[in-house]
Amino acid sequence: MMDYDKTYAEFKWEVPEYFNFSRDVIDKWAEDPDKLAMLWVDDEGNEVRKTFLDFSKASRRLANVLRQQGVQKGDVVVVILPRLIEWWETNLACLRMGAVISPGTTQLTAKDIKYRFEAAEAVCIITDNANAPKVDEIIADCPTVKSRIIVGEPREGWLTYSDAVAAASEEFQTENTRSDDNAILYFTSGTTGYPKMTVHTHASYPIGHIITGKFWLDLRPEDLHWNLSDTGWAKAAWSSFFGPWNMGAALFVHHSLRFSPKKTLELLAKYPITTMCGAPTNYRMMILEDLSQYKFPTLRHCVGAGEPLNPEVIEVWKKATGITIRDGYGQTESVLICGSFPCLEPRFGSMGKPSPGFDLQVIDENGNILPPNMEGDLAVRVKPERPVGLFKEYWKDPAKTASVHRGDWYLTGDRAYKDEDGYLWFVGRADDVILAAGYRIGPFEVESALLEHPAVAESAVVSSPDEIRGEVVKAFVILAPGYQPSDELVKELQEHVKKVTAPYKYPRKIEFVDSLPKTVSGKIRRIELREREWAGKRK
Ligand code: ATP
Ligand code: MG
Repeated sequence: MMDYDKTYAEFKWEVPEYFNFSRDVIDKWAEDPDKLAMLWVDDEGNEVRKTFLDFSKASRRLANVLRQQGVQKGDVVVVILPRLIEWWETNLACLRMGAVISPGTTQLTAKDIKYRFEAAEAVCIITDNANAPKVDEIIADCPTVKSRIIVGEPREGWLTYSDAVAAASEEFQTENTRSDDNAILYFTSGTTGYPKMTVHTHASYPIGHIITGKFWLDLRPEDLHWNLSDTGWAKAAWSSFFGPWNMGAALFVHHSLRFSPKKTLELLAKYPITTMCGAPTNYRMMILEDLSQYKFPTLRHCVGAGEPLNPEVIEVWKKATGITIRDGYGQTESVLICGSFPCLEPRFGSMGKPSPGFDLQVIDENGNILPPNMEGDLAVRVKPERPVGLFKEYWKDPAKTASVHRGDWYLTGDRAYKDEDGYLWFVGRADDVILAAGYRIGPFEVESALLEHPAVAESAVVSSPDEIRGEVVKAFVILAPGYQPSDELVKELQEHVKKVTAPYKYPRKIEFVDSLPKTVSGKIRRIELREREWAGKRK
């Protein structure tokens, strides 16, 4: 097992001048023609196995198709596909030919797609029959998009993926991309505002995610790794693409349009999955099921990322499976920058320690590093050297890029503190922190306290206006099955929070709701609740 301090101290980024993930990673694993890259299943019980060699070949063919379609090095190709094998082929083809890949979720509307086409100056779209009508609705207004490729049934005005790929040559001279060439354009989740176009190079994600795959996921070539995330978010690049494939691990993919906690548990028990990555919201739903009915004999690791991971969720999961869900922190803008690495003694509720290759600190408004246990801005040192696993820039938006830098630091936009032993504790997004009666209150701590009560399935804590106090803590609570809203329950929850955390943090207001506003990547949009609370009032 890795020694954290030693690994952290000795780690050096190694980046060659030229790098191409498809050639330098996928084609290398493909030298063993039988090496499994993916086990794909769908809700109908179909199973497909793909080797690295299959992906190597398919991506060459598709690269030829894209060339014929006029896609050049540096051009943006948008891919909107559910968890279909073609999604992985498309990513590899674009990397191979030096086109810039921009994945979007299938939940995008026609308007969102138009925004992305325009913002990214996309030249090509690859999508399926379910999403093609949205594209056709706006295509007349998007003159940059020259080529439309459909995965599925033929459609007028579209090239059919399967036919084109079958007719194309398997020979393709992989573009000798420079490590600092643009490779990927991911849109952020849009939790706090309009999604930002984040540029990654042929090194920042492809090489940077060695951190994610090796140190955090602890993957090996014989592993079968399952990441629950949608294909449209950067987390897919983390844990469904670069992280595992760098390590030669095979992916388990479940093609389904909806997350079902029950189905997920069934699949986890049925297939020889060794490692699983989910968003905290996935785990919060799974622990409501009867976990004692399932056995996971091959499961070695479970990790969570994307949102803070509540200690209660870790406890319940651990009791049932024996496995501690390890937290991991990062952004679309980065690879894993902080994690509860397998070699660390986990502290439930903490995000763990900085990743090797990252100087991650809590700083004040002047860029000074704060002493332990003081809350401040979570920032990554970028001078004199920018860590490889960090984005290049927000595309065509130098002002935005500049706004997230302060002196020697890149600002994550999140608030946190470090304890005496170097563990980091997430407080909240800078905008989500509540200022009540002179105290700063992070929503995560209150939400975690609420979750420890059996009546609470999930909650979101935001600031709310109050005549006398100005601003108070308000909790929106989804009740667990079998519980009914009542004034008594409000009191009980308030007393409970006062008991498990500092009393001033308890929610003076509680509203029971059936659902919470979330991004398509499953993150709670506290901003929406907060704006609803404050509508018409001045903060
Ligand atoms: P936008 O920037 O568009 O508002 P977003 O920040 O949610 O959206 P992502 O890049 O998908 O877009 O998410 C990164 C953010 O998610 C982090 O800055 C942090 O706020 C949160 N996050 C990710 N992982 C964790 C974690 N393990 N613990 C706490 N927060 C996390
Ligand atoms: Mg963000």
